[in-house]
Amino acid sequence: MFELTIIEEFEAAHRLPDYDGKCCRLHGHNWKVEVAVRGTELDSSGLLIDFKVLKSHVAEVLATLDHYYLNETPAFLTLPPTAEHIAQYVFESLAKLPTFGERVRVSAVRVWESPRSCATYIPEV
Ligand SMILES: [Zn+2]
Repeated sequence: MFELTIIEEFEAAHRLPDYDGKCCRLHGHNWKVEVAVRGTELDSSGLLIDFKVLKSHVAEVLATLDHYYLNETPAFLTLPPTAEHIAQYVFESLAKLPTFGERVRVSAVRVWESPRSCATYIPEV
């Protein structure tokens, strides 16, 4: 089994309306997103997936969040934009792309909202 991980970042504002604390107020983060993919079979070049290809897919998904007020984006009109929900959104957006399937699976998405706090989405099997 091989696992590759890439790290990308985006900047966005959010608020957590039902949170009892200061995060219910509008504020922003420099979000760091780690995406891991797994597979057992390498291609003829010896790669699970080209890092460049993986990064471009992640960048496409993060472009739907970057420099937005997350609460007003389509993904979070009905869900609070917590690190947990952002990780799940990025995971599910990537997993439905044709690049990912049997040979190369998205295995986890980790979203850091600060240098010391992150949430990871890993689908239940
Ligand atoms: Zn926050």
